Amino acid sequence: MNSLSERDQKSIWHPLTQHKLHPETLPIVKAKGALLYDENGKTYIDGIASWYTAMYGHCNEHIIAKVQQQMQQLDQIVFAGFTHRPAIDLSEALLELLPDNQQKIFFSDNGSTANEIGIKMALQYHFNRGEKRGTIIAFENGFHGDTFGAMSASGLSVYNGPFEDFFIDVKRIPTPNPKNIEEVVHLLTQIIKDHKVAAFIYEPLVQGANAMHMYPACCLNRLLKICADHEVITIADEVMTGFGKTGTTFASDQVTIKPDIISLSKALTAGFVPMAITSCTQKIYDAFLDDSVGKAFFHAHTYSANPIACAASLAGIELLNSEVIQEKIQTIIASHQAFNERIKNHPKVTSTRQTGIIFALDLAIEMDRYGKKRYEIFDFFMQRGVFLRPLGNTIYISTPYVIEISELKQIYQAISELLDSL
Ligand SMILES: *Cc1c(COP(=O)(O)O)cnc(C)c1O
Repeated sequence: MNSLSERDQKSIWHPLTQHKLHPETLPIVKAKGALLYDENGKTYIDGIASWYTAMYGHCNEHIIAKVQQQMQQLDQIVFAGFTHRPAIDLSEALLELLPDNQQKIFFSDNGSTANEIGIKMALQYHFNRGEKRGTIIAFENGFHGDTFGAMSASGLSVYNGPFEDFFIDVKRIPTPNPKNIEEVVHLLTQIIKDHKVAAFIYEPLVQGANAMHMYPACCLNRLLKICADHEVITIADEVMTGFGKTGTTFASDQVTIKPDIISLSKALTAGFVPMAITSCTQKIYDAFLDDSVGKAFFHAHTYSANPIACAASLAGIELLNSEVIQEKIQTIIASHQAFNERIKNHPKVTSTRQTGIIFALDLAIEMDRYGKKRYEIFDFFMQRGVFLRPLGNTIYISTPYVIEISELKQIYQAISELLDSL
């Protein structure tokens, strides 16, 4: 029998992978809490919660129990024409957590699609009201996913290169900060004046794929106000930021002008099964109500609101609302702050930043986003039993909330060793 890695190479094409340069991938056979286990029993601390999903720890017992119960009750049902308790319970729970203006939940199955749906809702909102608006505004270097609409709105060239000729119409503005805000406000106003703008899609406060770029809520608020004044639908892509990572339940909790549409995935199902939702205001929903079928939102995915996914999500929300998890979030925030004090003046660190439990630092070395050095740093951490996924010269931490302090220290130790080795 060949090893898992050899069998993998024979039959699997991995995401975001140049297989010619990196033919081997590491098999993981088990995960528990913040730990990943390879075939030989070596453990790795999951420093990024498996792409920000497993926030309550891998194979969480509470979620397993709820998912098992649901599996024995109702596995899957067509969601056009039928409904079920897990979807209703979850929608109510989400609307309880989301900003007050959110009134309806639309289900799908991944973050890209949740944004795709948000963009389509915004375009059809205007269309249904007899106004054709076709332009979408997005931030430079944003990331909204890999389907065509979401990809068009994304501004990272490594993903988009071959497809740019086939995009929907997107105009870009820089992410705002106190220095450039007047300029960005001016640019946004100009674009809204010159084009028929349907929507503005943005990652609130933290741009994950853009190396955890962070920007202040007050600046975002200015932009949202302008959109609101011009009937431009605002879409907050909270696929990464949702469920407590930014120190509030959603990043949108930190701005006073609330978005019209919010997309969620990743931590939504606590890493158990794929699911996503797009929530919207009553105003959006009402624009689709009509005697004509043609004004309805004709978009569906086979696994919409899968009951097992809903059960996992509900169990996750119960944990998020628990005192234990809320305390752990505060502990991680304080712990990152203390780590920051220790390393921010290291000669190999050019800058550090933190929003909630997300901590990032930039290394004082030149390197390509997906170049050779990045893989060397990745290996450096893995040898020390720590899974971190550098983005260019940025190292970031976004661990499960349940991580042990000793495990967090091991991550800091590995980063300190890397800094001293450069
Ligand atoms: C991961 C991510 C997406 C895409 O979600 P998928 O489930 O991978 O399709 C979209 N937006 C943001 C901000 C993300 O972090």
